[in-house]
Amino acid sequence: MTISVIGAGPAGSYSAYLLAKEGFNVNLYEEHNLIGKPIQCTGITTSFIENYINNNADFVVNKIDTVMVHSYNNNVEFKLKRKNIVMDRCGMDNYFLNKALDKGVKLFTGHRFIEANNNELIFKQNNKKVNVKKEIVIGADGPNSQVAKSFNLKGKRENFLGLQATVKGNFDSSTFEVYLGNKICPGFFAWIVPENDKIARIGLAVREGFKGRDYFEAFVKDKGKIMEMQAGLIPIYNNKLETEKNNIYLVGDAASQVKATTGGGILYALMASEELSKAIKNNESYEKNWKGRIGYSLMVHLLLRNYLDKFNDEDYSKLLELFNDKSARNLIESYDREFPIKLLMKLVLAQPKLLKYIGKVV
Ligand SMILES: Cc1cc2nc3c(=O)[nH]c(=O)nc-3n(C[C@H](O)[C@H](O)[C@H](O)COP(=O)(O)OP(=O)(O)OC[C@H]3O[C@@H](n4cnc5c(N)ncnc54)[C@H](O)[C@@H]3O)c2cc1C
Repeated sequence: MTISVIGAGPAGSYSAYLLAKEGFNVNLYEEHNLIGKPIQCTGITTSFIENYINNNADFVVNKIDTVMVHSYNNNVEFKLKRKNIVMDRCGMDNYFLNKALDKGVKLFTGHRFIEANNNELIFKQNNKKVNVKKEIVIGADGPNSQVAKSFNLKGKRENFLGLQATVKGNFDSSTFEVYLGNKICPGFFAWIVPENDKIARIGLAVREGFKGRDYFEAFVKDKGKIMEMQAGLIPIYNNKLETEKNNIYLVGDAASQVKATTGGGILYALMASEELSKAIKNNESYEKNWKGRIGYSLMVHLLLRNYLDKFNDEDYSKLLELFNDKSARNLIESYDREFPIKLLMKLVLAQPKLLKYIGKVV
């Protein structure tokens, strides 16, 4: 059986690698000619990424031990026990691709998947159609998954629009800054992630219907000189999306496996790829397995996002006041945001006033 993986982002390349390692014949199709370009990501993760990469890899550009969260009139500094990792996304994508190629995966660049018929997948390559036998298909083709559309995998899709610039200016290279509040970025947050003390990735995300560009321009205008602009969609998790049907699977952004609070999707894409490879190898339900591993965490992030959406600027400010409590801050500094359930439980015990804010979510 040949497995066709569509999309050579982290989810596609890592799934291809794991399956080829298990002895499957894997072909990987990517619409672009260059892997990892255009960049549409900030590339920051928690230290959990060290389960997948060496933190001294050449595509690791910075390690961050401080998170500074601002509201309109308040701020809290968290000193992380384990540093966050900032990566060059193009380098990271090529790292996972090379792992796949080393295991014998065949790569087809410049191949855009457009549709399927009963027996074949149809790609467009330089305006000509290429037909490929359809056996097992993995859609790792991002938030607008054409695989999901072509195979009619059910479920409503909604995305944030992320806008980001690489900016030259003066930054604190050890600090990741987060700005909360409706005046700065309604329904999400704005970020400054330094690559070093001269260059930072500055951005924000908004739901459809908000004038993202206006908020973005207002936020970035006094931060330095814009070197490069990037934009991309961030899927909002929907636990009702169908991610498995008759040998067709969705993984990563295509399956909306993204934290709705932060927009982070790299780590969940890698974890879901592991569940996918195990499920195909052992003939198990992929959907059951990935939901068992990360579904609850994704759901908690979504509930938190829905709750935070109701916050006004004053609520954010009061929330930060509660985080000034040492025991609450200590917990946040110790736990990875990948696994929020345990953290929320402990936070409520440490700072009962937080119940007012997160009790409904738990
Ligand atoms: C502005 C922004 C900032 C972000 N910052 C972070 C962050 O700091 N940390 C984090 O963890 N996450 C972040 N994310 C989310 C993260 O980028 C995604 O969750 C992650 O890239 C998901 O990987 P993926 O492989 O599923 O999808 P993608 O990385 O989107 O890869 C999909 C691949 O499929 C290809 N493709 C698409 N359609 C087709 C087709 N029809 N045929 C062939 N190939 C196709 C694409 O070209 C692409 O290479 C950010 C997202 C945005 C937009």
